[in-house]
Amino acid sequence: MKINQKLLGKLYIVPTPIGNYNDINHRSLIILKKVDLILSEDKRKTGILLKYFNIKNKLYSYHEYNEKKHSEIIINKIKNGYNIALVSDAGTPLINDPGYRIVKLCRFENNSIKIIPIPGPCAAILALSASGLPSNKFCYEGFLPNKKSKRLNRLNELKLEKRTLIIYESKHRLLNSLNDIKSIFGSNRYLVLAREITKKWESIYGDTIEKIILWIKNDKNRLKGEIVLVIDGLHNNIYNEIPEESIKTLLILKKYLPLKKAIHITANIYKIKRNILYTLFLKNKY
Ligand code: SAM
Repeated sequence: MKINQKLLGKLYIVPTPIGNYNDINHRSLIILKKVDLILSEDKRKTGILLKYFNIKNKLYSYHEYNEKKHSEIIINKIKNGYNIALVSDAGTPLINDPGYRIVKLCRFENNSIKIIPIPGPCAAILALSASGLPSNKFCYEGFLPNKKSKRLNRLNELKLEKRTLIIYESKHRLLNSLNDIKSIFGSNRYLVLAREITKKWESIYGDTIEKIILWIKNDKNRLKGEIVLVIDGLHNNIYNEIPEESIKTLLILKKYLPLKKAIHITANIYKIKRNILYTLFLKNKY
């Protein structure tokens, strides 16, 4: 057992590639080689990564189900001089991945344990950097709730957010979530869908929510893979604030009435200026 009685060990937070092994950096490889123990979300996956880089080291299971129980054991090891690296399945640990508990425990040891973050891949930051959306101020939302009612509630809380919003999404829920985002944020909010970043089928595509949904429906392959959504914040763009319901009403009325009349009635119901509705209608060629 490598125990350094005099010095506390260190905790290294080591990001791993999110698709392309070439993205691991030199320093991460050195650390993964030299630490006494690697905390791994999935020992099989980390094992494959280590083997690829010809690294042999001890792996210790650390995932969301044993995080609580194992954190105490790990901190004791660090106090006994162990240098430990924390890795997750892919990307930066703690970012919707395990690690928070152990980092918190280390931090609250009177700042005596060194926590060393290593730079590396994070899907949220990569998607943001290529989105073309304002990037100096942004907020990271992680995954939306699974349950539709909770998801809609959360989106309602977020709809006035002015900063660029980053959401992680799963392929199984993508269309449902996009439809919910559309119903709360309006069809015209600009959104960038970043899929399979750093992988063979990487695609980063931006348009209004309405058009993104059509774009996906045109090719079901666009539903596949790992996905990040980057959504424009609420700006003083009057079109963003047009309620989705008003467009639905307008489209129904238009079936029975001339466009001018349908716009007039809709504008009265929803207290919207007629020219705004008219321009929106033309822009989207409903
Ligand atoms: N810790 C990771 C990070 O730093 O990005 C995130 C882990 S979270 C459990 C997994 C989610 O990250 C996926 O569902 C997806 O939303 C996003 N993600 C991970 N890899 C991705 C990739 N290559 N392309 C797009 N999104 C990705």
